[in-house]
Amino acid sequence: MINDFVTKLVRKEALTSNVYLFEFSLVDQQKLEFIAGQYMLLKVDGQYRQFSIVTPENITDRFELVIELYEDGLASNFLKTCNIGDAVEFKGPAGVFTLHPTSREVVFLVTGTGIAPIKSMIETSLTKENSPIMHLYWGLRHLDDVYFAKSLMSIASQNSRLTVDICLSQETETHDFRSGRVNAIFKEDMDKKNTLDLNFDFYLCGSPRSVEGIYQSVIDLGVPSAQIFFEKFVKHG
Ligand SMILES: Cc1cc2nc3c(=O)[nH]c(=O)nc-3n(C[C@H](O)[C@H](O)[C@H](O)COP(=O)(O)OP(=O)(O)OC[C@H]3O[C@@H](n4cnc5c(N)ncnc54)[C@H](O)[C@@H]3O)c2cc1C
Repeated sequence: MINDFVTKLVRKEALTSNVYLFEFSLVDQQKLEFIAGQYMLLKVDGQYRQFSIVTPENITDRFELVIELYEDGLASNFLKTCNIGDAVEFKGPAGVFTLHPTSREVVFLVTGTGIAPIKSMIETSLTKENSPIMHLYWGLRHLDDVYFAKSLMSIASQNSRLTVDICLSQETETHDFRSGRVNAIFKEDMDKKNTLDLNFDFYLCGSPRSVEGIYQSVIDLGVPSAQIFFEKFVKHG
């Protein structure tokens, strides 16, 4: 159910030059009950902007968002000047981009801040007994764009049900990261396994352009559209 929330900003951390992590704690003993993958609507000057919840479902007294800040964005400008302790209003949770029960392995092909709902899905899923085997391919451009690498890789090292590949499209391969686009690297891995078995559920998230490109490449591999779920981070309006 969508509710109104008054929150307090408790953490604001630059992850890269233009991507920030914001943590909001709920006030008045409110609880946020949501399904991993859903988003919140941030209220600024009577308008709303959508941002996906990063934290897993079992955290209900606060939530984190990872937000790319734009020069001339309404929410971006508001968040840039927001200070720790400030009251911030939201509506939520909303959205239907959530994990579907499945007996198949799950492949996440995501770019940029599209990691936000996926991190919540992965962490939530791993707390459950029937968690599917999951493969995360996360695309960024440069080394400087990387965040969450340590925490994602540490989750993967403790869980045989998760693999993580961070794919940098504008860098050469390093020990920790792969070089290239997520869809190309996923295909390369399939080719290496020499398998035509594409019995996966795919979850795509990121900018509209990247989701559309990745969607087409997954379709081109022969995957039925019923096995592909996506969220496009369209800009408001
Ligand atoms: C379901 C959903 C979930 C989302 N979750 C997230 C999330 O977790 N993290 C996140 O960073 N974003 C997310 N987005 C995208 C975010 O809601 C938009 O980018 C939003 O418009 C930004 O608000 P703003 O007020 O800062 O900019 P606006 O005032 O909406 O836009 C003003 C200007 O900012 C620039 N701009 C804003 N957004 C974009 C964009 N996406 N691409 C290119 N230029 C842009 C343009 O110059 C635009 O003219 C999500 C979108 C959807 C639909």
